[in-house]
Amino acid sequence: MWAGGRPMAARGTREGVVTNPSTGEVIRRVPFANAADVDAAVSAAAAAFPGWASTSPVRRARVLARFRELLEEHQKELALLVSEEHGKTVSDAIGSVQRGIEVVEFASGVPHLLKGEHAESVGRGVDAHSRLQPLGVCAGITPFNFPVMVPLWMFPVAVACGNTFVLKPSEKDPSASIRLAELFKEAGAPDGVLNVVHGDKEAVDALLTHETVRAVSFVGSTSIARYVYSTAAAHGKRVQALGGAKNHAVVMPDADLDFAADALVGAAYGSAGERCMAISAVVAVGSIGDALVESISRKAKALRIGPSGVPGVDMGPLVTREHRDRVRGYVDAGEQEGATLVLDGRGVNVPGHEQGFFLGPTLFDNVQPGMSIYRDEIFGPVLVVLRAGSLDEALDLVNRNPYGNGTAIFTRSGSAAHRFESEVQVGMVGINVPIPVPMAYFSFGGWKQSLFGDLHMHGMEGVYFYTRTKAITTRWPSTGAAASGFVLSQE
Ligand code: NAD
Repeated sequence: MWAGGRPMAARGTREGVVTNPSTGEVIRRVPFANAADVDAAVSAAAAAFPGWASTSPVRRARVLARFRELLEEHQKELALLVSEEHGKTVSDAIGSVQRGIEVVEFASGVPHLLKGEHAESVGRGVDAHSRLQPLGVCAGITPFNFPVMVPLWMFPVAVACGNTFVLKPSEKDPSASIRLAELFKEAGAPDGVLNVVHGDKEAVDALLTHETVRAVSFVGSTSIARYVYSTAAAHGKRVQALGGAKNHAVVMPDADLDFAADALVGAAYGSAGERCMAISAVVAVGSIGDALVESISRKAKALRIGPSGVPGVDMGPLVTREHRDRVRGYVDAGEQEGATLVLDGRGVNVPGHEQGFFLGPTLFDNVQPGMSIYRDEIFGPVLVVLRAGSLDEALDLVNRNPYGNGTAIFTRSGSAAHRFESEVQVGMVGINVPIPVPMAYFSFGGWKQSLFGDLHMHGMEGVYFYTRTKAITTRWPSTGAAASGFVLSQE
């Protein structure tokens, strides 16, 4: 763990194991923080807060600019660490680190973003302005699937705004977070501005209930997001808790078939489907269905499955054996529920890696909304296809789904795209773009059960999440004039 600018030994005795999903071997052990460990990290963050909050925004921004340079220098190293512990391919991991770096780049512009508003002469001789002030110690709890990118959605914006931070990364792939803390220190961040504790529910609960923690950012599955939101809010904290997803792509009859099928194969099976923005349900509208299923199946069959670190591999293993078995259980269930199994990934064989957690690309057709493979977030390389007769039917299907993270439409029709964009009940929308992850200067977040809370991550919503607004009304009476108390409305 990492607190006060240096490694921190665990007081607790519980620990977990980190496996290499490509080989199934245990490669590291990770200490699990108890309440005393969490308290030590929060105390380090609290001690650093007054000095950091009063450091001018431009100086804070310079630390972030230097951090961005270091991340670029160490991008490959970070990606290799992610790939080793997570199982995604190195090129995919490099891309995810890049998206994180872009948030640091955004946060380096913080002096401009913290300027607040100013209004002259709100009354005679009275001006008004607002200040965006930091909250104090903020906490971030992150999922296994983006061990660099998701922490970088959070702490660069939080610390740019003058807060200090305690990160609790996923215990499944914890190493990259410590490397981030080392690089942040090297960039010139004072000790205690960023701290890292590892662990599971015990560490999370200690953060959610700690009286010094002012705000909690969470990304993970919906059930835990709901729990984090309600628990932290009940303890008086500001919370943003991003949950799971079932992202639909609607393919209209006029879509470019080859383009759409290529995009969908990448979006469904990239990172073995372990992306919160992965497309996991396709709604084929009208006549395009059969040809689309045939094309996706053909392209998916050609994907090369193998160990994550080997060049040329398109899809690596799933993160753990338990998760792989759970996903495989959904394939069994889909078959039993009567969906058409077009492509079955259960028989995949990676020679020399028989103990790796592999599952090949899997495709179901003729899926019905009541089936578990449609209802649940599977979080693996399983794509389900539903058929719809019209855009109305497709929109209705997407809007009835309890999740609302991302969605996409494939079409050549501007009017269909425009209608989809305005009527769909989802937070992030792609038009012929399968994974519409917003750039760092927009905000990232879903609707409905994909996000509990009011503000999304990064972009201006991130800045608002990590600051409190103070509105100041100012009058400087000329010498001798009497202050007249309540002045504004009438003057
Ligand atoms: P998870 O919910 O199991 O774990 C997320 C974090 O919560 C981890 O740090 C974990 O240690 C902690 N945690 C786990 N169980 C807990 C408990 N009972 N009490 C308190 N804390 C607990 O999620 P995961 O499996 O690591 O990640 C995959 C999930 O994250 C998927 O559902 C995916 O859709 C979601 N996700 C969402 C987004 C988004 O932007 N909406 C982004 C990435 C991932």
